[in-house]
Amino acid sequence: MLRALFLGLSEANWAKSLIMKIGPARRSALRFVAGDTLEDAIKAARRLNKNGLEVTLDHLGESVTDEASARKAAQAYHDMIGAIAESGVRATVSLKLTQLGLDIREDLCLEQMRAILNQAQATGNHVTIDMESTEHTDATLKVFRTLHDDYEYDNVGTVIQAYLYRSEADMQALASEGAFVRLCKGAYKEPPDLAFPDKADVDANFVKLTELFLAPEAQQAGAYLGIATHDENMIDAAKRYIQANNVPPAHFEFQMLYGIRGKLQEQLRDEGYKVRIYVGYGTEWYPFFMRRLAERPANLWFILSNFFRR
Ligand SMILES: Cc1cc2nc3c(=O)[nH]c(=O)nc-3n(C[C@H](O)[C@H](O)[C@H](O)COP(=O)(O)OP(=O)(O)OC[C@H]3O[C@@H](n4cnc5c(N)ncnc54)[C@H](O)[C@@H]3O)c2cc1C
Repeated sequence: MLRALFLGLSEANWAKSLIMKIGPARRSALRFVAGDTLEDAIKAARRLNKNGLEVTLDHLGESVTDEASARKAAQAYHDMIGAIAESGVRATVSLKLTQLGLDIREDLCLEQMRAILNQAQATGNHVTIDMESTEHTDATLKVFRTLHDDYEYDNVGTVIQAYLYRSEADMQALASEGAFVRLCKGAYKEPPDLAFPDKADVDANFVKLTELFLAPEAQQAGAYLGIATHDENMIDAAKRYIQANNVPPAHFEFQMLYGIRGKLQEQLRDEGYKVRIYVGYGTEWYPFFMRRLAERPANLWFILSNFFRR
């Protein structure tokens, strides 16, 4: 119930304007985001890199409805890629297509993506296209394939959500295309005719899709998997498959969100695995923060404690 409440609030503009004005809410959000500015993000990346962790940076934002805002968001990504190159931090890029105008015009989004990928290519960087709610799944995969297959960018990847019934077919296709995919469970509110309602089914599908994408045929096609989860059962299942099948490190990495399960991030690093931390920053933290609350309603206690902190 609380999950549905937070996911509902994540899309409610009235709640956004109310909650963003509350100081302790912002303080709580800072557990999951690096800060308001690019400088904050680079500092966080440097700190994580020093600790042996890779990074992917996300300039938070989504669901943009006017062209000027979509262009401003793209500029923020150009600034980010420039700052990554200049500072020398080990960080890739993550973004959402609705931030770059997908809901306005597909060609606007594509044009902006191409400019971002060109700059990323010139500086040796990689861009992962996050996956949003199912209203956007087809459009996101279409843009990804246009960039990857038609324009032949080899520095672009996308995300697949294990909670969707369609994901097995999507993963099979993407594996044979030798794609770069981040597999996660899925963070949006989806109806039971599109997504498994039970966690046990989502988890079983996550394990199945992990194995599908690490299989020898996928490796031969050049596929690469970002195993994005904080769930030790998912991580252990992946490790078992990797060890039993000698999957080379060149085909996978683990990924987790900034501020979540830090000890587990370090434990994996100590075991010799590549671990990448997804670091969001910027002033548009509200929907991202609400999804983190939905994933673990117990985080509410952490927020309440911030209300009583001076
Ligand atoms: C790198 C990365 C990128 C992602 N990109 C996307 C994306 O593009 N699209 C998308 O739909 N989703 C994305 N997600 C979110 C994902 O879909 C899940 O909602 C999220 O990762 C929680 O699922 P879990 O696999 O950690 O498992 P869960 O079963 O939800 O959690 C397992 C354990 O992890 C810890 N945990 C999980 N979430 C939290 C939290 N918010 N706060 C504190 N502890 C927590 C708890 O200890 C929990 O018991 C991404 C996740 C990661 C790690």
